[in-house]
Amino acid sequence: MKDVVYITIDGIRGLEVPLAARLTEHLVDLGAIAVAKEGAVAVDLSVSWSRPSPTVLLGLLHNALRELGVSEYCRVEVDGETLRVFVTDPDSVRIAIGGDRSQPSGLHVCPHCSYTTPYEELLREHVKLHYIGL
Ligand SMILES: [Zn+2]
Repeated sequence: MKDVVYITIDGIRGLEVPLAARLTEHLVDLGAIAVAKEGAVAVDLSVSWSRPSPTVLLGLLHNALRELGVSEYCRVEVDGETLRVFVTDPDSVRIAIGGDRSQPSGLHVCPHCSYTTPYEELLREHVKLHYIGL
């Protein structure tokens, strides 16, 4: 297995960061981290002490999507060593991950780019990405 497994996301932009944050919580047990990229989440296994099988990663991905409340709007496929997430209902996903614009107050804005989120926790995770440079 490669050191980095990619989870591509089709059909929406903005799911990468919350998905990477959720996945990292699960991957911590394996010593691995998930990093948000443009249109994908990169799972870095280079420092993990246990190599999860694609089946295990798929299970973690399903858990993360469920926790974000978007699993019913997404379809997941395994393509070799790449996992693909197809968003079947982008509007519902956008609302579920807080992209809903009905609450403009209390937004947290990244000081490095135009990333905006209602969740302080997500912004903290996002800002880290500017320093990891993976
Ligand atoms: Zn940023």
